[in-house]
Amino acid sequence: MPELRKDPITGRWVIIATDRAKRPTDFVREKVEIHGSGFCPFCAGNEAKTPPEILAYRKNGGLPNTAGWSLRVVANKFPALGIEGTLNRQGEGLYDKMNGIGAHEVIIETPEHQLTLATLHPRGVEDVLWAYRDRILDLKKDRRFKYILIFKNHGEAAGASLEHTHSQLIALPVVPKRVREEVDSAKEYYNFKERCIFCDIIRQEVEDGVRLIAENQGFIALSPYAPRFPFEMWIIPKTHQSAFEESQKHEFEQLAAMLKDMLTRLDKVLDSPAYNYVIHTSPFPEVSNDHYHWHLEIMPKLTKVAGFEWGTGFYINPTPPEESTKFLREALVPATT
Ligand code: ZN
Ligand code: ZN
Repeated sequence: MPELRKDPITGRWVIIATDRAKRPTDFVREKVEIHGSGFCPFCAGNEAKTPPEILAYRKNGGLPNTAGWSLRVVANKFPALGIEGTLNRQGEGLYDKMNGIGAHEVIIETPEHQLTLATLHPRGVEDVLWAYRDRILDLKKDRRFKYILIFKNHGEAAGASLEHTHSQLIALPVVPKRVREEVDSAKEYYNFKERCIFCDIIRQEVEDGVRLIAENQGFIALSPYAPRFPFEMWIIPKTHQSAFEESQKHEFEQLAAMLKDMLTRLDKVLDSPAYNYVIHTSPFPEVSNDHYHWHLEIMPKLTKVAGFEWGTGFYINPTPPEESTKFLREALVPATT
């Protein structure tokens, strides 16, 4: 019998298709392979082929926009939003609009074309997290922005147009609806119970253990109770923290280890699938608070979103999270740090 499950944070219902539960080998998908053929603007030596760098880590010094970097942040060559201008909010009859102000940046995670975030050295993964933080702290000074979304598209099926490993950042003049829903619901829960819903979820999941994938000193990785997608996982800091960018050195070390571990398990269990991840953190006007708890959501690209999902906002998930947890837990990846 299929089961309807409700996500306690967003109130979103999903259908967990228990009868025809899909195992990792049941998904038809394309393995993400790095071919390295053809020209790549993100490779070392091709710095002139991207917009000028906004940030770069160069342990041994060197000039901007030349080789010698270990990580580089550049403006997106085809930005979804433009950085120049003043924000102009307008009505058009009953409709609302504003000009497309925002920042769209690309974090080139390594100069090595063949690496992925799963195969990158843990220190390199940590640097990626530092770059996210550095860019958030810088863009936050711009009062036009209300939210910054950090996200990663890995593999063509997940929307990556270049195979060289990279993440993206978009600064927005409004708080996006998905985030608004999460923050508002978490606040409602907090007002009612005087506890953070994420802290409560962590407590219960650690106790139950059935959806707990891994745990280190600072973070847990779990399969959410009502996941939209098969093998969806969340990485959450164990102690309450509303903003990603307020993380400290030891937390970034542990997060890097956990992220690398989860992506390695994903590659192993699902044979290097395409995936997306997003970081959900507190919007700027309310950065430090007791009700919201930042986290990273990883969504492997195994199913297609179709008419029913578009029409209802319900998702059909063919793999119960308790099952995906077992596979991910038993991937038996040796500790990476
Ligand atoms: Zn490359
Ligand atoms: Zn919390």
